[in-house]
Amino acid sequence: MPETAFINGRFLPLAEASVSIEDRGFQFGDGVYEVIRTYGGRPFKLEAHLARLNRSAEAIGLRQPYPIERWSGYITEGLRLAGFPESKIYVQITRGAAPRDHAYAPDLEPTVVMTIRELRPITSGLQAAGVAAMTVEDIRWGRCDIKSVNLLANVLARQQAKQAGVFEAILVKNGEVTEGSVSNVMLVENRTLITAPEGSHILSGVTREVVLALARQEGLEIKERYPSQAQLYGASEVFLTGTTVEVLGVIRIDGKPIGDGEPGPVTRSLAKRFLQQTG
Ligand code: PMP
Repeated sequence: MPETAFINGRFLPLAEASVSIEDRGFQFGDGVYEVIRTYGGRPFKLEAHLARLNRSAEAIGLRQPYPIERWSGYITEGLRLAGFPESKIYVQITRGAAPRDHAYAPDLEPTVVMTIRELRPITSGLQAAGVAAMTVEDIRWGRCDIKSVNLLANVLARQQAKQAGVFEAILVKNGEVTEGSVSNVMLVENRTLITAPEGSHILSGVTREVVLALARQEGLEIKERYPSQAQLYGASEVFLTGTTVEVLGVIRIDGKPIGDGEPGPVTRSLAKRFLQQTG
């Protein structure tokens, strides 16, 4: 079974999987999710992802139907059934199906789905060359720490980036850089790494945490505060972190070159160290 789906405890081919049109995830974006990838066929930082899934579910008062060990079992089984060399695992819990009403009954049965698809990693060419980005106004809601399936603002930002021919939309709220549409954003000024603090304006990235630990090991000073848009343009280096982007240098923002216009030494070193500890 290559592209594999899972619905409420049952595995089936992705093409055969469907849920009710009255699912609240479909009608209200009432649900939470995680994206996990494998390295060497094994899920990377699975516990951290499942812990965040629990936090997101709890934050919206959603019953997380499976304990962590059961999730791990399903994920292992799914990876075995799919049989890809490397996989991208998408896990989603929605509040369940019910006649449409904004308010919900507390006893709804959550809908749990998972898909396992082959991972197409960022190419080494893209890693080496770095990517362009653009700034987009951050119009998202006040709980960006919840990994909610309600991604409309991220979708619109990412589409703007795609139409502009750049890789990522860097979100700016009241003149301050929060994060990317699918990534966290970090700046380097001398030997200081600056990134938005954890809190309701960003998603606490699993990769962000790993990279901050590596940066500390490298002796960089870490400042967790919101960079201004001017600081973003003036930084010697800017890079993105995330499950799918890993550590990815940004070489141009809104048409302006960043630093020397190529991934800088701190970015390259952190990208290398990051890959070293995925194995
Ligand atoms: N911010 C946003 C908005 C994201 O969608 C992602 C990707 N999940 C991230 C940050 C990075 O998080 P992680 O490192 O856990 O993938």
